Amino acid sequence: MRVLKFGGASVKDAEGVENVAGIVKQFNQPMVVVISAMGKMTNAFESLVKAYFDRDFETMQVVKDKIVSYHQLLINELFSETSEGVIDDLLIKLDEKLASEPSLNFDFEYDQIVPFGELLSTTIVSAYLNEIDQKNQWIDIRKLLRTDDCYRDAGVNWELTSRLMKEKLSFDSTRLYITQGFIGSTENNLTTTLGREGSDYTGAIIAYALNADHLSIWKDVPGVLNADPRWYPKAQKIDELSYWEAIELTYYGAQVIHPKTIKPLQNKKIPLLVKSFLKPIDEGTVIDATEQSQKLGPIYVLKKNQTLLSMSPKDFSFILEQNLSDIFQILSKHQLKINLMQSSALNFSVCIDDHKNIGKAIDDLKKDYGVLFNTKMELVTIRHYTNAAIEEIMDGKEIVDSQVSRKTARYVVKESEWNF
Ligand code: ADP
Ligand code: ASP
Ligand code: MG
Repeated sequence: MRVLKFGGASVKDAEGVENVAGIVKQFNQPMVVVISAMGKMTNAFESLVKAYFDRDFETMQVVKDKIVSYHQLLINELFSETSEGVIDDLLIKLDEKLASEPSLNFDFEYDQIVPFGELLSTTIVSAYLNEIDQKNQWIDIRKLLRTDDCYRDAGVNWELTSRLMKEKLSFDSTRLYITQGFIGSTENNLTTTLGREGSDYTGAIIAYALNADHLSIWKDVPGVLNADPRWYPKAQKIDELSYWEAIELTYYGAQVIHPKTIKPLQNKKIPLLVKSFLKPIDEGTVIDATEQSQKLGPIYVLKKNQTLLSMSPKDFSFILEQNLSDIFQILSKHQLKINLMQSSALNFSVCIDDHKNIGKAIDDLKKDYGVLFNTKMELVTIRHYTNAAIEEIMDGKEIVDSQVSRKTARYVVKESEWNF
């Protein structure tokens, strides 16, 4: 069996849904199809939950109307009149939730509202496939994908999830299941989410549980490119990548695949195909257990919105294990993610994602350390660098910090225009 995952861009309008249906139709074998919220609907739901939490009823109404009319328009274009009520039950549930008082926990409320994006999209696609005689079963993944209660970044209960998925996705009465990415639930049936862009990860979880032949994720790009084409227009497709390389790239910030996706696939040696939903016949990129002996050219990753923090012990003690342990604890307590670190005898620097808690972390660090920080930074990684690649990318950039190892060159630079 195979698992296919379609992101928001692939189902952003009626034409997109028809295209996805065409791709699904091509494969006449057991399949689980995972779908994200349509278009930019997750962003819209994020605005909705914020208005709900802030008790801003006017914005709530405006955003909800926008969400409803977006889906309604798509349904009108897609279906004959008889299927018009296809999302009515979900909209009633959404209204019930919005009419209730929020709790004090924003992350919990987020997970009770934002998943409607995935519930709506899969309900529509499943109904459409049935209408065009692609018989399928809609699955509420929350009954199978069980997590802890870390809202907005839930951790998977692998044993329970694998068992439930094997039981319920048995292909006894259907060849095709349609289900949601990104969402799960606790043992108490409270909805959780796996973090933004988490639908790729859902695909990998299902592939792992069911020992799939492979997972394919369908994007608006030809495959994994050697840079984000929105940043570096000359980006080229990479035909094959090892699991190892793919994890390195997602760690450095390549946004094409959710970072948690690779591990479950690697653990069971399940290949990941990254393919274009615009050109489904084309080869795409294969990520598998290849020994990365083939020589990869330079791969570029840009991480925006960075802050560089530098710490020195006030008492001039060396930066030793105890200091490092203190610093890591403070950063972790404030949920700050380290993207690069450097140390010398009296100084320790980290490049971290911008985050609302940085100020609080600096206050804590200042008790024992002198702290300097630079905001408006960007982190550039050049994997498999060459001198020519470094020259091209770094031309005219103001470098604030750098780290060069055998395979990877990394630079913290001041934010400025990129012109290639
Ligand atoms: P999805 O529709 O599955 O959510 P995303 O929009 O999250 O897809 O991911 C696809 C986008 O990732 C592309 O449109 C591209 O702009 C961006 N991207 C960033 N880095 C890369 C890369 N190295 N290769 C290909 N695409 C990349
Ligand atoms: N819809 C969710 C998001 O936009 C999950 C995903 O698309 O992967 O983050
Ligand atoms: Mg996405």
